[in-house]
Parts: sequence; structure tokens; C-alpha cells
Amino acid sequence: MTKQQRLEYLKNSIIETVICPELAATAKQLVFGEGSADAEIMFIGEAPGKQEDIQGKPFVGASGKLLNEMLESIEFDRSTVYITNIVKYRPPNNRDPLASEKEAFLPILLEQIEIINPKLIITLGRHSMNSLLPPGLIMGKVHGTLQKHQGRSYLPLYHPAAALYNGGLRQTLKSDFLTIPSLLRTVQ
Ligand code: URA
Repeated sequence: MTKQQRLEYLKNSIIETVICPELAATAKQLVFGEGSADAEIMFIGEAPGKQEDIQGKPFVGASGKLLNEMLESIEFDRSTVYITNIVKYRPPNNRDPLASEKEAFLPILLEQIEIINPKLIITLGRHSMNSLLPPGLIMGKVHGTLQKHQGRSYLPLYHPAAALYNGGLRQTLKSDFLTIPSLLRTVQ
């Protein structure tokens, strides 16, 4: 099977095994992920919002617009990276995903990572960072710093939504983003 086929198979397994049926019932559709199966960089957010739920794609609302701007600032085409979330259905009224929902979707996320095998995993926000990296990391301290964990390279960044209405955080996110190209050259 190609990587693309394996991703498709994994996507179908979420529907067949009925992960988080309550979320699935209130969401319009599954938002599995988007981008290149051969991506060197994988971005992992929290959960789909309203626009993502409507379009079936991650980061296509206001946060997505900011993410696109940041990608353009480092001359990365969105189609060359892979973008997904921990939780694949929109939580009602955009509430934070529950611990049980993050746990239920974690094996799917880990398999997505396994299939794509990116050089660098960029976690967006604390939910994503805390799901994938050891407990106790403080965003204010570790954002923009390379973290090695279980043989993989991670870069924790602030969530674009947090940076939307906070000029200081936006600047921080922007400068953290500018380090990505050189960081990518240093990781295997
Ligand atoms: N916020 C996220 O964490 N993910 C999305 O896909 C959109 C907004």
C-alpha cells in the first residue's frame, strides 16, 4: 500500500470503529487531515472549528488564514506539509476537547505520524503539545525550542487562534515560524 492508501484506510477505520460517537453525532463530518503524505513537516492542532466542520478540512477558518500567512512568510506551500488535529470531529460550540476525546483519537494520530514519518512535528497549542510530549512542559518556556521525544523531533508553537487577537503572541509565533527552515535542516 502507498502512504496515501494507508492514510485512506486509517480514515475509514475511524468511521467503521465509531470513535467518539457523541462528537460524531453533533459534527457535520470527519476532519481527518490534509496535505502531502510525504510531508517533511506535520502540523497538529487541537480540533476542527466551525469552518473546518463545514469544509471537512483542517485550519480553513480564521486560524487557518493566519497559519497560511505564517507558511507564506517562510515560503512554504501549504500543499507540501501535512496538517491535522488531535481530535477529528468538531466539539460542540468549539468547547475544549475532553481528555477522553483526546485519548480516543491519540492512536489514530500516532498512526498518521507513523505513516507520514515527518522530519519535524509542529504542535500548535497546549492540547497538541501535551498529547504528544511528556507532561509538565510550559508553553511560555518551550515554544520555539526543538524537543526530541521517542526518536522524533517536535517544535511546540502557540496556537494561531491565541495569536489572532494578541499582537505580542502573534509576533512570537511569527519569529518562531522563521526558525523552521533552518531547524528542518538540522533534524534527520
Ligand atoms: N483550530 C484547530 O486547532 N484546528 C483546526 O483545524 C482549526 C482551528
